Amino acid sequence: MNIILLGAPGAGKGTQAAYVAKRLNLAYIATGDLFRKAVEQGTELGKQAKYYMEEGKLCPDEITIGMLLERLANPDCQTGVVFDGFPRNLNQAEALDKALAQQSQGIDKVVYIKVSEEELLRRLSGRWVCRNCQAPYHITDFPPQIQGRCDKCGGELYQRPDDATPTVKKRLKVYLAATAPLIDYYTRLGKLVEVDGEGKAEKVAKRIIKALGKGDAVS
Ligand code: ADP
Ligand code: ZN
Repeated sequence: MNIILLGAPGAGKGTQAAYVAKRLNLAYIATGDLFRKAVEQGTELGKQAKYYMEEGKLCPDEITIGMLLERLANPDCQTGVVFDGFPRNLNQAEALDKALAQQSQGIDKVVYIKVSEEELLRRLSGRWVCRNCQAPYHITDFPPQIQGRCDKCGGELYQRPDDATPTVKKRLKVYLAATAPLIDYYTRLGKLVEVDGEGKAEKVAKRIIKALGKGDAVS
């Protein structure tokens, strides 16, 4: 089973995608995490991606798709994947369809997590992320047990530079122009399920599992 989580920055894709992957025993691929790791490690890919990320722009398709395909070739992806942050435009969606088709696979469901713009801005401005394992926190909604430290791995929490307000606004614009058309694309393919992304993370998670028709899957 291959699943895409679609939604604006701040819609909760990361939190939900990691949860769904674990619950359904699927691999988890977040292109944003892969890029951030490359930047941190100072690889050639990271050097290329850094400028775009800081500007709130999409990284060029060529490097993004290349990175995705490389990750997709890992054996852990054979039984299925939850995609977070990819595809982000039609070109990427078509590249993904093609790559999966070559393995006689395809996208089964696309979960569109819907959140109001006001709530998106509120969430992003309060977001803190673990530098080590990328787990997301929020200063009021989901604070860590020890301030500045990740509950899961003890790593340092930091605010992503692209969560600063001007960049957030730009990311939302990019989302509307490039990514929102994917809602149409997957609707036409009959794969889109819409889920209300407001409210507590656990509630949203339940809605997603239900929308995927997996309400009875073991937890
Ligand atoms: P968000 O919180 O905006 O969903 P991500 O962690 O998914 O953030 O991505 C952060 C940044 O990494 C994006 O703003 C973009 O520059 C780059 N990026 C991630 N995924 C893609 C993609 N599929 N195509 C192009 N750029 C991407
Ligand atoms: Zn951590």
